[in-house]
Amino acid sequence: MRIFLIVFIYINISVSGMVLAADTHVDPHWTYHEQYKWNLLIDRLYSPPYPYAECGIGQKQSPINIDSNDLDFTNDLDEIKIEYGKVPISLTNNGHTVRVNISQGLLYIGKYKYQLVQVHFHSPSEHTINGKHYPIEAHFINGIDDGGLAVVGVFYEIGMFNPEFDKILKEAPKANNMTITKDDFIDLNKLLPHNTEDFYTYFGSLTTPPCSEGIQWLLLKETVPISIDQIEEFKTKYYQNNVRKEQKLNGRKIDTH
Ligand SMILES: [Zn+2]
Repeated sequence: MRIFLIVFIYINISVSGMVLAADTHVDPHWTYHEQYKWNLLIDRLYSPPYPYAECGIGQKQSPINIDSNDLDFTNDLDEIKIEYGKVPISLTNNGHTVRVNISQGLLYIGKYKYQLVQVHFHSPSEHTINGKHYPIEAHFINGIDDGGLAVVGVFYEIGMFNPEFDKILKEAPKANNMTITKDDFIDLNKLLPHNTEDFYTYFGSLTTPPCSEGIQWLLLKETVPISIDQIEEFKTKYYQNNVRKEQKLNGRKIDTH
């Protein structure tokens, strides 16, 4: 539940037609340059203060490399069904990534139903396939009532211009800790590949502090094309190297079918 409080509580302030939002919960300051210090962060807004030790001592951390020679092929993998659609444009620049705030969309994993809450982007990808980074990785964050999270990871590759990703590039605030809403929609299906049934899955963590574990990762195998100009625009206008370093597998299995 904590994760939701940190990520999703914000208040709205109307300013000349746009809606801006300021986070009420200010996380401890952290940077990607000093990942080795994430475990020393302490969130003092909680009582008692909440240490981010898991970033250092956790044994099931993310991201990881997917080694195609070390997969656990299984026939009884839960099927996933993604029902995302068009969502009103609400974009936040939180100082670490660009986030699309979402209040509709469903992910089914077997018999369990998750609600989509946001999607954000890393450049290059955090997960690697056989050691290879993709230019961008999208994280679709889905929550279930008991506080559990499942993240759908999508790799973006150089290819055709993507008009829906362009709406994000054109509209997202450049300033940190700002949110903007627009009278327009983003079709989330255009940010997904056609095939959403083939994936790798494993249990890991948030890739940002507090690095909380118990998160089911679903990394889709098919990639989404975006243009090289769009990749460059994301990197120069917003973020590059907003990526946590590869974490140890520690005996975990990566399942696929
Ligand atoms: Zn992420």
